[in-house]
Parts: sequence; structure tokens; C-alpha cells
Amino acid sequence: MSEPHLNTANARRTEPRVVIIGAGISGILLGVKLRERGWLNFTILEKAGTLGGTWRDNRYPGVACDVPAHLYVYSFAPNPAWRSRYAKGPDIWKYYHGVARRHGVLPHIQYGKEVVGAEFDGAGWRVETSDGSIHEADIVIAASGRLHHPVMPDIPGVDSFAGPKFHTSRWDASVKLAGKRLGLIGTGSTATQAVAALADQVAQLKLFQRTPQWVFPVQDTPVPWWKRVAYRLSPAYARKYYQTLQAQTEARGRAATGDRDARAARDQQCVDALATVRDPALRAKLTPNYEVGCKRLVMSGTFYQAVQKPSVDVVTDGIDHIEPKGVVTKDGRLHELDVLVFATGFDAHAYLRPMRLVGEGGVTLDEVWRDLPLTYRSIAIPNMPNFFLINGPYSPGGSASVVGIVEVQVDYVLKLMEHIVRDKVLLVPREGASLAWLEDARERARNSVWGTGGCQSWYLDKTGTPSIDPSTLSELKAQLAQPRLEDFVERPLPVDVETKAA
Ligand code: NAP
Repeated sequence: MSEPHLNTANARRTEPRVVIIGAGISGILLGVKLRERGWLNFTILEKAGTLGGTWRDNRYPGVACDVPAHLYVYSFAPNPAWRSRYAKGPDIWKYYHGVARRHGVLPHIQYGKEVVGAEFDGAGWRVETSDGSIHEADIVIAASGRLHHPVMPDIPGVDSFAGPKFHTSRWDASVKLAGKRLGLIGTGSTATQAVAALADQVAQLKLFQRTPQWVFPVQDTPVPWWKRVAYRLSPAYARKYYQTLQAQTEARGRAATGDRDARAARDQQCVDALATVRDPALRAKLTPNYEVGCKRLVMSGTFYQAVQKPSVDVVTDGIDHIEPKGVVTKDGRLHELDVLVFATGFDAHAYLRPMRLVGEGGVTLDEVWRDLPLTYRSIAIPNMPNFFLINGPYSPGGSASVVGIVEVQVDYVLKLMEHIVRDKVLLVPREGASLAWLEDARERARNSVWGTGGCQSWYLDKTGTPSIDPSTLSELKAQLAQPRLEDFVERPLPVDVETKAA
């Protein structure tokens, strides 16, 4: 007999079969929330051998989160163990693993299950993984993240380099760097953390910078013992501290989306931080020619100190090609290297890809997203019934911890799921409502500093428009407080499916 599920006409408890794609921060959160509701018939399909998403993949020296640690947590699970304002990557991984364990999510995760496709069969979904297995579901939720396809630069000769070479998100810890000549390509948030961690370890570090970054100065201060005790013993204190950090982050984030006063204060701090670089020639190399915050702002209190160390050389001549001995810049100079690292970021626009998704009427995701990744409020896709996204394309960012954003989205998806389960329906967002929302979000994004600041960044889609909804977390909470069911087409589940399942 099939397990009780949504279509089972006589089931005393109506419990949807749910497949979640990805066991990162969003997938774990979904697991916690489904269990809270007593919906235990769910599986999290994870392509890798362990959970944690970005904090599993990124293990480069210096990896940390530049969002305050006490904010980079689920709101319902404060972590009294944080010892400093910013947390290191491995500690963040431990925190999320701990939450998954304590909330009983681990047994729901199937590892080594890369989803290659999903097909809607008129009533539910057949999800296929790379090992050929099929997972049937009434509801599918993609929690597969935005920044996990590493970009390797298309530089002539890149494969010919004779020494070890790897992307920062595929760090090879077996390569010993002490006393080596290291080349690092890229100057984003990842590279700046790695440079600060490696400058003292290596004999020489060549930082190949194509575009300088603005750096907002932050200090990683220890959390005093009395605060740790208060945080552990008083839920009210922990909640208040979380809310204060959230308000501060939102106020600063408004600088990206138009608050001139916030922007001026923030910009001045970046200018002052740059002024701490003593050598005028180096300072000139590090001075951006676009507005602060146009690219994702680097938050660091150590990068400018690191690049002034004698072991570090900031190379700004463009890269011409790579050869076995090292990198040759356009001035013809060969920079001899032992190890080459690519801190060249991720393809943020490969969302859900290369999965093959086939929705109602045989319509594919590639067809729906031919022009742009069309979603309804980042959480649902036209033609894909009972299929949801967390942290999908055009998801808000810039003014909150991503954890806060996905909590709001997960709550909203759960409200839709309650409706689906109660009324035994298929929900699919209307194309018109999706287009209207997308155009509004894109219009607001165009007018943000991401659109007007005069830079290139992973925020921009192929039309040059920022693919980020500039709504703040408070605005998102208001927008997603209640589902607007009029924006969805709602159909009863086919009767023959009920019979089949019962
Ligand atoms: P990124 O911000 O996309 O930066 C990639 C860097 O590689 C840029 O400096 C880029 O130069 C350079 N680059 C790319 N292709 C190149 C080429 N062919 N030749 C020379 N240079 C090239 O990537 P990321 O630093 O990995 O960061 C990605 C995102 O991850 C961040 O924006 C952030 O959202 C997240 N992140 C967060 C944290 C945190 O603490 N919360 C830490 C790390 C990462 P151009 O600027 O000229 O394109």
C-alpha cells in the first residue's frame, strides 16, 4: 500500500509527500518547519555527501561570514556558543548541522542524490536523481541555492598551468602553501578573506585584480563573557540582540536602495578605510571608479592591512594568458607561481540548472525562462504546479542576512502548502501576476546602486538589470504576510489519482 499522502481520499491525517532539493540552510529550515507541523513524509535530496551547502563547499583559508554571527542564525535557534562578532565557516557549518540534528532533520536527508530532472504527471511530480532513482512527490521545493556553480575564468592557457590549481570553493587542503608562490585571481569577498588569511603563510602572494573593490571596515571583536552568559540564559536577551542586529543591517542595506543619508555615512567609512593604505601607488590601484555598494560590498577589517605586507603584490595589468610556469600579464611579464587559485565567483544565474524541469502541458523550465527567470515573488514558477523555490531568482538581498530572507519565504510557502493540503488542490502562479511582480522588482532594482553604480557584478542578469529584489526584510515580511491566492490558478487534484493512491 502506498504511504498516506495528499491524494489519499480516506486518510485520517492528510500528509503531503514532499521532496526538497538541497540540504543547505534553506533545505534544513524546511525540514525543521515540516516536522514542526507533523508533516513527516518528506525527503531532502542532497547531491553531495554531507549537508551545509555553501558552508560545506567553501573551505578556503579565512572563510568566514561577514554578517554578524548572531544574525546569521535561524531566529528560533540562537547560538550562545559564538565567541566573536563574525563566525568562521567551519563553525557555521557545525551550527547548521547541530540544528538539523536536534530537530530530527538528518534522517530525512538522502546523500549523493543529485536531482537531474522533475516531471509533473498531472497530479504530482516525479523527481529523478543522477543514480536513476525516481522520487514521487505531491510538492517539490527547490532549496538549491544561488551561489554554487563555480566560475572558472576563460583565460587562454588556463589548463596548461603546471602546478596545483583550483577554485576557492573546491579548496585542495592537501596542497601545502607554506613558502610557496601563490597566485590568486579575483578580488571579491572570497578573495579578500583568503588574502588576509594567507599573506603571512606564503612566500609570495600575487593578487590578480581586474577591478578594485570598495571595502567596508568591520572589526571582528570577541563577544564578552557576560554577553555570552546573558545570551545563553535569557531568551528575551537573545531575541532582542537578534532584532537589534537585524535593524542595523536593514538600515545599512537601505543605502543600496536609495536612502541617501545612510549611503553617505557608509561611503565615507569606505573612503576612510581606503585612506589607511599608506603607499599612494598601491592606494590608487585599490581605488574603484564606481559607486560604493554597486558590487556586493566587501566587509573586512584585515584586507587593506594584508595587501600592504611585503609578501603581497597587487597585480593590475590584465591577464594575457596562463602558461605552465605562471600567469603572463598584458605587459608581457611572467609571474612565476607554484600554486594558482581562482577566487572568480559563481554563476548566480544558473538557478535550478542543469536540471530538466517539465511542468503542466509538457512546458519546460527552459521555455518559461527563455527570456528571463520568471517567478512569482521568487517562490513559484508559472506552469509548475505545487513546485516552490526558496532563495530563488530575484530573491531580496543586501539589507538582511539571507537566513532572515529564507525564513520569510519558507513561512509563505508553508501557508500555500497548508492550503494545498486542506483543499486538495494544485496551485500554480498566474503568468500575469508573475510578470507584474517581476517588472516591479526589476524597475526598483534598476534604480538601486546595483543598477546605477557603474559596475559589473554577479547581481546583473543578461540584460544588465540587477537580479535582486531591493525590498528590505521588513518590506518582504509585509509583502509575504498572507498568500494572495488570486495570483494563483487553483485546480482540484484529478479524481483518478485519488483512487490510484488510496
Ligand atoms: P565575486 O564577488 O563574483 O568575485 C569574483 C572575482 O573574480 C571578481 O574580482 C572578478 O573581477 C574576478 N574575476 C572573475 N573572472 C575573472 C577573469 N576572467 N579574470 C580576472 N578576474 C576575474 O565572487 P566571490 O568573491 O566568490 O563572492 C561571491 C559572493 O559570495 C559574494 O558576492 C557574496 O555574496 C558571497 N560571499 C559572502 C561571503 C560572506 O562573508 N558573507 C564571503 C564570500 C562570498 P571583476 O570584479 O572584474 O568581475
